Amino acid sequence: MSAACLRVALPVPLPRLFDYLPPDGQTAAAGDVGRRVRVPFGPRELAGVVVAVGPPETAAGLRRALAFADPAPLFHGELLDSLLWLARYTHAPPGEVLATALPAPLRAGEPLPDTHAWAWALTEAGATALAGLRRGTRPRRLAELLQAGPLDEDRLDRELDGWRPAARSLSRRRFAERVAVPAIAQTPAAQPGPLPNPGQQAAIEAIAAVEGFAAVLLEGITGSGKTEVYLHAIAQCLARGRQALVLVPEIGLTPQTLARFRARLGVPVHALHSNLADGERARVWAAAWSGQARVIVGTRSAVFTPLPDAGLIVIDEEHDGSYKQQDGIRYHARDFALVRGKALGVPVLLGSATPSLETLHNAGAGRYAHLRLRQRAGDASPPQVRILDVRKRPLQAGLAPETLETIGAALREGGQVLVFKNRRGYAPVLLCHDCGWSAQCPRCSTPLQGTPMTVHAGGGRLVCHHCGHRQARPPACPDCASLALQPQGIGTERLEELLAERFADWPVLRIDRGTTARRDGLARLLAELGQKPGILVGTQILAKGHDLPNLTRVVVVGVDEGLFSTDFRAGEKLAQLLVQVAGRAGRAQRPGQVWWQTHHPDHPLLHALIQGGYDGFARDELALRQAAGFPPFAHLALLRAEAQQAEAAGAFLQAARDILLEAGGPAAAPIDLHGPITAPMARRAGLYRMQLLLSCPHRPALHARLDAALPAIHALPQARRTRWSLDVDPVDLY
Ligand code: ADP
Ligand code: ZN
Ligand code: ZN
Repeated sequence: MSAACLRVALPVPLPRLFDYLPPDGQTAAAGDVGRRVRVPFGPRELAGVVVAVGPPETAAGLRRALAFADPAPLFHGELLDSLLWLARYTHAPPGEVLATALPAPLRAGEPLPDTHAWAWALTEAGATALAGLRRGTRPRRLAELLQAGPLDEDRLDRELDGWRPAARSLSRRRFAERVAVPAIAQTPAAQPGPLPNPGQQAAIEAIAAVEGFAAVLLEGITGSGKTEVYLHAIAQCLARGRQALVLVPEIGLTPQTLARFRARLGVPVHALHSNLADGERARVWAAAWSGQARVIVGTRSAVFTPLPDAGLIVIDEEHDGSYKQQDGIRYHARDFALVRGKALGVPVLLGSATPSLETLHNAGAGRYAHLRLRQRAGDASPPQVRILDVRKRPLQAGLAPETLETIGAALREGGQVLVFKNRRGYAPVLLCHDCGWSAQCPRCSTPLQGTPMTVHAGGGRLVCHHCGHRQARPPACPDCASLALQPQGIGTERLEELLAERFADWPVLRIDRGTTARRDGLARLLAELGQKPGILVGTQILAKGHDLPNLTRVVVVGVDEGLFSTDFRAGEKLAQLLVQVAGRAGRAQRPGQVWWQTHHPDHPLLHALIQGGYDGFARDELALRQAAGFPPFAHLALLRAEAQQAEAAGAFLQAARDILLEAGGPAAAPIDLHGPITAPMARRAGLYRMQLLLSCPHRPALHARLDAALPAIHALPQARRTRWSLDVDPVDLY
């Protein structure tokens, strides 16, 4: 029998492990599992992770690993097991899943970074020299601050403007020095919150009573005090000496949110999001790994945070689309958090004003506890919703006269107005009024299906929102040379233009990805406005996150775009959006009004929402899904293929379909295969797109079929001429 070897997961697109002999002079031991190791791979050198130790599959030609990158395992028990489960569930290479779970420096094989914070201290020489420093200067003031003891840099940022040059000046004279201090030392004092109302109290107690794993849905409209419940649950978790992980959607992780958590919990709160520098992400990861970080608040990929002392996982806005990763390893952070919570034996708290239908279905079936907060916290009153029929009404930039009137009234009363439109740019289409030509993206259009380019910059530029292609607006129609090129439809830029002209006495702020590319851009814009009357025009960035206590009117302009869509989730998304946007109004003492402008005032979705609320809508919609055999009553997997030629993508999917059909064998559970068909977006960034949808009411049967078929699909000669991917539980079917 040959000696044990290392079974290594490598970040390569092959869904298997690779065997290596241990590095020179070492033996492979069970304790190596979870360590990163550098290995030769073809002519290259790669960093991988040891996931097992055992006899090699074939002893011949085994290569030797170069060196371990970690003295101790980086992935301990639960996280490694959960990630390997995720690799099986997404049918993705384990090495790629493990790499996805790591911040970039760790993925590249760098050592775990230090997790200390930096502080400044006065030296003995500095203490002696202090009295001789010129009074009133920054170095003198800094030295005085440091007299009482070292201060960390965060604290100095708050205490003394321009302390850094002063510190450099002191350090040159050896009067002060920079020292490492444990990050945990910088503990602010916890501030008390409001007294929980009876609904919150019941929820807090129900969560405290959970032992081990349980999924708990906390349903409550925006402003009903869910975050207060999270804060209490986290405090209980901290009191038991455990770590808490809080996931928030991309647009929900604001400086306001973090400040609230920090102020209330009395421990450092570590943030993890896409705007952090790589080194910073690695430091937070390391602090969680070592158990130093007790509360981690982050967006989607924070679900991969190691939690050696886990006590609680919270998922805020669990229905939010940003939890689904749309390329690479297509995981769903909410679903993976539930898997981890079960493996860790800790409660998972799912909060939302508009729970996903999947979650409501699980709650209805008794798999999740269902807690509700029925009132708004404090004395805020719910907004009043009205449907405004705009058929035959003269519209200005898409706004009816009544809408303009109510905006004006709200401003004159001193309130703020939110005008919501889910389209960035000036106009969605540029049209020739003489011949009907319209500007299409050359990289995303086919002869049968055009993808219009969005007009930006007041009409001067054309941008494709799907592939980013940009070009100048043509001076004349390329087909008929007419000068009558007209922007058609309404985007946020055009709304801003009209509103600024109509309401010239008040500020008009446009808030979309164009104006708030940086995370703090939005906070800065809103701080400038403060409580003053004014208008906010924006996309869904505005639907959640920032408190706007003086908001008294909300106008939703593009309701109709969501009412008729081929996507079976479109109704759910629209209902969530309408409820979330409405939730922005009337959070303060002033009652709010919400106006939905539509050409379809009788649409059942709108009436279900108004009469039965989100619950009523969800009941109707679940019944429709069940009748149609859509999730959550069926489980989907989507095989996508992209290629220079549509035929290449089609040929690959056809061959994959044949394999999937055969792989079942005569006794297999039936699986529906739809396609191959052209993807709803037929071409993007120059590649033709096709898809094959798999649907099955029985999840294990779907996975068994994929397991049986995928090796042969990977080996298809047609696979080499396409870029293909498998998306289990796809959220968007385009
Ligand atoms: P949600 O997370 O559901 O949107 P929050 O927890 O943010 O709700 O609460 C909304 C507002 O109401 C916040 O300003 C919060 O401080 C306040 N609030 C929450 N609970 C209470 C309470 N029990 N008494 C008074 N104010 C509260
Ligand atoms: Zn023309
Ligand atoms: Zn394009």
